[in-house]
Amino acid sequence: MALPADYHIHTPLCRHATGEPAEYAAQALKIGLAEIGFSDHSPMQQDDFDDWRMRFGQLDEYVEKVRQAQRDFPQLQIKLGLEVDYLPGQEEWIRSLAERHSWDYLIGSVHYVTDRWAVDNPAQVSNWKGRDPLDIWSTYFERLTRATLSGFFDIIGHPDLPKKFGAFPQPDYAPFIERFLEAAQAKDVAVELNTGGLRKDCHEIYPGPEFIQLMCHRAIPITFGSDAHAPGEVGLNFPEAMQLARQAGYTQYCRFHQRRREPTPLQ
Ligand SMILES: [Zn+2]
Ligand SMILES: [Zn+2]
Repeated sequence: MALPADYHIHTPLCRHATGEPAEYAAQALKIGLAEIGFSDHSPMQQDDFDDWRMRFGQLDEYVEKVRQAQRDFPQLQIKLGLEVDYLPGQEEWIRSLAERHSWDYLIGSVHYVTDRWAVDNPAQVSNWKGRDPLDIWSTYFERLTRATLSGFFDIIGHPDLPKKFGAFPQPDYAPFIERFLEAAQAKDVAVELNTGGLRKDCHEIYPGPEFIQLMCHRAIPITFGSDAHAPGEVGLNFPEAMQLARQAGYTQYCRFHQRRREPTPLQ
């Protein structure tokens, strides 16, 4: 069984990951991956926006680190990506980041549901207290849908991230998902299967099995990502993610080269 490309890998520049790109690449080869892509957390316009991303002055250094890994590991395909935070009003900033380097792909992620609160930040988990999860999920999906419609992104990252700490909304949040998927279908944007969720309180891949079925029903292209923040996490739980994709009806996933999508059989 050939494992799919792992397109969601971080570097220490984001200040909460360990291991240099060469260590991630070595691990990828060890477990038999043929391709990986780095997609570290994008810088914000203000370097003090938060403390879990690279500073703007490090963006070129990040690209050079990935290029160095490409030179050092010719036997492994290594792509240059970026996980870009979508916040309303940041469109010009995102456009300038997109133009700055010849990215293979851009992952659009929503972490922030207000200007200051990232739903997945363990240091801010108390913000969930006293709030109706439905409101938070609603805001999250509204932003995710806007990110999708913005046209800036090739892939949407971990699409049901608010489940991280296990706070699912009541009643059903299916209408949010449908609106998001409608946007993904209309804009022909891929959605990531991110195994990072299995290592969190929700113990589930982002997105969950039913969500993946809805995606397949709309023929939305998929990528795979481990969200590795340490070399040992590269490609982690990919067989489970592949099985979920196959069960939903997927026979292909996609890879990217210079922002062009390449359909690839899911073996
Ligand atoms: Zn991170
Ligand atoms: Zn993320």
